[in-house]
Amino acid sequence: MTEESILANVRRYARGIGDDCAVLKPPTAKQDMLLTTDFTIEDVHFTRDWSAERVGHKAVARSLSDIAAMGGRPLYCLVSIALAPWVDQTWLNGFYSAANDLLQTTKAWIAGGDISHARQLVVSITICGAALKGKALLRSGARQGDLIYVSAPLGGWKIKTVIEPRLDLGRKLVGKASACMDITDGLALDLHKLGLMSNVGAALEEVPLLPGATLDQALYDGEDYELLYAVPSAVRVPGIRIGVITSGPAGVVNYEGKPLEPKGYDHLLHRS
Ligand SMILES: [Mg+2]
Repeated sequence: MTEESILANVRRYARGIGDDCAVLKPPTAKQDMLLTTDFTIEDVHFTRDWSAERVGHKAVARSLSDIAAMGGRPLYCLVSIALAPWVDQTWLNGFYSAANDLLQTTKAWIAGGDISHARQLVVSITICGAALKGKALLRSGARQGDLIYVSAPLGGWKIKTVIEPRLDLGRKLVGKASACMDITDGLALDLHKLGLMSNVGAALEEVPLLPGATLDQALYDGEDYELLYAVPSAVRVPGIRIGVITSGPAGVVNYEGKPLEPKGYDHLLHRS
């Protein structure tokens, strides 16, 4: 593989690449721009036995989930990849085609990126999106008495093989949810973070579990990529109600009469 042969391949999946920068239309005056970036790293987010398609899908889905959590629409994607020695052209084709397939379901596209090499495979995905001006869903708007919802049952880290970014739901929540985020580090830690940002507490009433998942997996494992949102009680929204926002203390999540430890997946505790 040479850089040229790789680029020739990438051009099949990307639009308008070849210059030093991508030249793109900014969101309109009625929109705010969203930017999010995520690493997907061998032995951290996937292992070598995963198919190329599964890695490509996951890498893009993680960033799309962040756009969904803001109630936005994805527009453009930058794909940067550091190739490990074991990666070949067939693998790369599978990776880019899966990444591109998922983006196309959202009408976004690959607008650029970078290629280098490293001992382990490292993928960095950056997605630019748009939200209605002043309406992006933040973590900071939850108020006492708001009801707390999740988009689907939890505990999926070891059970779900495909992440489905909740873009349609995120957009439906615009103007309705007072706060929103996606669950990546586990419900206990993520609801704690939402509470801190909103300066409120939370009382969990029930934790919906995926078939085969345990309560501990749902609370502490993460990688669910479902939406977690707070909504004023008079407002109807889709989802599963799991609790209620309390006056505080900020960030404290009570469940079955006692505060949950705000622990979950912390990247810096997993360094090897
Ligand atoms: Mg997120």
